[in-house]
Amino acid sequence: MLTRREALAVAAATLPLVAGAAEPELKLATFEVEVTPPIGHPCMGGGIAPVKEIIDPLYAHGLIFLGAGQPLAIVCVDWCEIRNGAYDLWRESIAKAIGTMRERVLVNANHQHDAPIADVEAQKLLEEQKSGAAICDLAFLDKAVTRVAKAAKDALATAQPLTHVGIGQAKVEKVASNRRYLSDGKPFYNRMSATRDETIRAAEEGTIDPYLKALSFWNGDKALAVLHSYSTHPMSYYGRGGATADFVGMARRHRQAALPGTRMLYASGCSGNTTAGKYNNGATENRAVLAGRMHEGMKAAWEATKKHPIQLSFRSAPMALEPRKSKGFSTDELMARLKTGPRPFDKCLAALGLSWKRRCEAGQPVDVPLLDFGVAQYLLMPAESYVEFQLAAQELRPDSFVVVAGYGECGPGYIPIERAWKENDGNLSDWCWVAEGSEARMRAAMAKVLKS
Ligand SMILES: [Zn+2]
Repeated sequence: MLTRREALAVAAATLPLVAGAAEPELKLATFEVEVTPPIGHPCMGGGIAPVKEIIDPLYAHGLIFLGAGQPLAIVCVDWCEIRNGAYDLWRESIAKAIGTMRERVLVNANHQHDAPIADVEAQKLLEEQKSGAAICDLAFLDKAVTRVAKAAKDALATAQPLTHVGIGQAKVEKVASNRRYLSDGKPFYNRMSATRDETIRAAEEGTIDPYLKALSFWNGDKALAVLHSYSTHPMSYYGRGGATADFVGMARRHRQAALPGTRMLYASGCSGNTTAGKYNNGATENRAVLAGRMHEGMKAAWEATKKHPIQLSFRSAPMALEPRKSKGFSTDELMARLKTGPRPFDKCLAALGLSWKRRCEAGQPVDVPLLDFGVAQYLLMPAESYVEFQLAAQELRPDSFVVVAGYGECGPGYIPIERAWKENDGNLSDWCWVAEGSEARMRAAMAKVLKS
């Protein structure tokens, strides 16, 4: 149940406006800004080699919608994760720059692993303890966010009329598979992005969302931007210190070259349990192969696109997720691990867990925001939501074209469905910081914004 205050906040944030003669005209501004980390910056929060070289630059790509109440923004970032205070910093800085509220800025990370994780509180905890471990460089974070906010502000002057939304989808062949597969009828969860074991690659694909979805935004006959979304961890190989937007960035770049006048964006869908593992043994040449398949999907979705007159309204539901209660996840246990963890990364994991716990204790809910374009919706889910949530969102609105991005607020880590807890005896990866029972909360929040 929403408290009365929350209900009022949801109502206040819900301001439907239809483009038409009597209404203010909708406009769209777009921007692109580089957010590549410096050499030496940790990748994946210190879990793998830091940046030794830049294979390709990392970007933040933004869309700003004007004319439907206060501005609304979608910002897709080629970082691994943006968490807790860092997530608020991104949203608040952009919101201030374009004159809107934090809740109306939908930031997602694309989750490439050879890329930064940003978590202000966790990094400060490591520094307070003089731990010698590092998750991120706070000075770089500030610089990157300042640059993005400026790009967003500068883009406002370039806004163009927005008259139509285009919707198109296509199956992507041989990219995504589920981490979970059955062997002799028993479930296993160990199919990772690069799977060297042939027998694991040979197992069934498992639950995925086979469709890449493309939302396009038009000024009459001119396509201003295309936002693509697909559910998979976006890595071919990683951990060698080569900063990269990986195969999804490569595919996006190819689309951008094909349609230079149209801004191309990519948002990873709910991909907590989907990876390229079935189709990828980790060989370096697979990056280009997977990029080619993604690009085929993007192109086919574009070719299947149908345009419709656009409407725009916004809804957001506050969602409280509980911190994980399993053994090893109490504040005392995490503090002990922060102080005496055997590897630097143990300390990082403890700091990330404590950061999320503090956020829960502070009572700040996770926002579940949605932009409603009439014939299509763009829904942003937090962290490493399992793909089943993306499929459930689409099932909630079978009449409509529901595009789902994952990796909004990344504080929770993996957000599994209940079956995963049961099948793993309550013992999931230590990258999961939420309690059992999150599935019901996720479903309720999705229903609230999708059904209204
Ligand atoms: Zn992940």
